[in-house]
Amino acid sequence: MIEIAFLGGAATVTGSKHRIRTSRATVLIECGLFQGHRADANRRNRSLPLDAAALDAVVLSHAHLDHSGALPVLAHHGYRGPIYATPATRDLCAPMLEDAASIQQADARHIDRLIARGVDLEPVTPLYDHDDVVAALALMVGLPYHRRQTIAPGIDLTFLDAGHVLGSAIVVLDVEDRGVQLRIAFTGDLGRPNMPILRDPEIPERVDYLITESTYGDRRHPPIAESQDALAAAVARTAARGGKVVIPSFALERAQEIVFALRSLERAGRMPPMPVYVDSPLTVKITDIFKLHPECYDAETRALIRGHDSPFDFPELRYVDDREDSKAIDAERGPSIVISASGMCEAGRILHHLKAGIEDPRNTVLIVGYQAQHTLGRRLVEQRARVRIFGVERERRAEVVVLNGFSAHADQRDLVSYAAATAARGAIEHVALVHGDPKPQEILAGLLGARGIGDVRVPSPGDKLDLGGA
Ligand SMILES: [Zn+2]
Repeated sequence: MIEIAFLGGAATVTGSKHRIRTSRATVLIECGLFQGHRADANRRNRSLPLDAAALDAVVLSHAHLDHSGALPVLAHHGYRGPIYATPATRDLCAPMLEDAASIQQADARHIDRLIARGVDLEPVTPLYDHDDVVAALALMVGLPYHRRQTIAPGIDLTFLDAGHVLGSAIVVLDVEDRGVQLRIAFTGDLGRPNMPILRDPEIPERVDYLITESTYGDRRHPPIAESQDALAAAVARTAARGGKVVIPSFALERAQEIVFALRSLERAGRMPPMPVYVDSPLTVKITDIFKLHPECYDAETRALIRGHDSPFDFPELRYVDDREDSKAIDAERGPSIVISASGMCEAGRILHHLKAGIEDPRNTVLIVGYQAQHTLGRRLVEQRARVRIFGVERERRAEVVVLNGFSAHADQRDLVSYAAATAARGAIEHVALVHGDPKPQEILAGLLGARGIGDVRVPSPGDKLDLGGA
């Protein structure tokens, strides 16, 4: 028997958890957090849909929290086996999971304060604490790309580069049970070809069963060069007005891509002289980890580093850790660029910069990442005339510019050509679409089906598929 169960990240984009079971072994791929409405997400994250003690091994594709963020919950429930990830992913998980624990604690305190003021809310307890994070990190085993490793009886793991974020991997499992042999490839989140810094996604050979993400199964991204031009134009326009550019950004990958893009503009003489601040302690830590892992870079970026030219530094760029230095940025006169977290403007220092700058028509808010519903980021994308920051209504006079081209996810064309390229290296029997909302999944399933790429399925949460064997 070889069975796969889709326990999370099925028909939705968060909470990834997929379990492979044979007569001899049980392996979990991903242990991500559900994100979304607080009460619902909290309930789903608190209970694990599996028996932690029954697992032989866990495999993690990359460090984003919707894939890794429930690992401390797993440790809390008594899991003590290995968690395999690439060395860069392992390093990134330390600050990412620590930050997640801190945010949960801050959230719980915030809710307590509201309850004390008489607001009708249920108290929340954090999902996990720093001890659970340390317990999970202690289980992580770094496995480099392309090194095949037996991780459970009859199950071998090989990581290929996924080109999505630093350290991101495509998970290839060779599974054997009672004479049946299968190769399962799971894309994790798939990157885009020709992204700066990272290599292109690698194509596995002779895959029987492809599990692919489908986030943008219904959409195409504008070319990266076009976004670079739009970024240059927005910066020049704001500088000419004497304003500031405020960029909310996720700490992992997006922030480094933006720094890299600004550095390219600066080198090409396309940026007016102005200070650029990366103001987010988590982003600063993560950028340091980028510097430790040149093995994850593409040839162009490696050549830069060999020439002692860091892709993450240029003369006008300052990394800001200290809280007082952060406050000083808003008091400065004249044009500047501030990159800060959180990416959807829900928490963190970005809120202070928005509060200070949103009412000044000389300024620009530059949106470079996905903004979920009900977030301040989404209200800015919708160009609302008034927005609420720290509980106070403010007039939005700053210009809002949305750049979609910096996405780290494959778009529809990339997803179809990736599946086709994999099928060209050995006929795929089955395809399962995960990590997507129903509409993009339906469209992508149609496109793959029309090309005759395997028997395409869109599993629902909890679905189990028997892949053969006795
Ligand atoms: Zn991701």
